[in-house]
Amino acid sequence: MKQAIIGFHKDEEDDWVADLACGHTQHVRHNPPWQLRPWVITKEGRKDHLGRELDCKECDREHNSDDRN
Ligand SMILES: [Zn+2]
Repeated sequence: MKQAIIGFHKDEEDDWVADLACGHTQHVRHNPPWQLRPWVITKEGRKDHLGRELDCKECDREHNSDDRN
């Protein structure tokens, strides 16, 4: 499910994590298979991606159980 990015933070391993509108989070640097998103390491890049959408795997998992499309 597509969810808007509302912010970013770094995890304990110094990797960037996107905060999504649904309340879930998603790593943006090493989303399997180790997809590198160079924009995330710059302040401008992150700002530019605020409001953009990522596929939230957590939401997909929740919705697949009861609201299958
Ligand atoms: Zn979600």
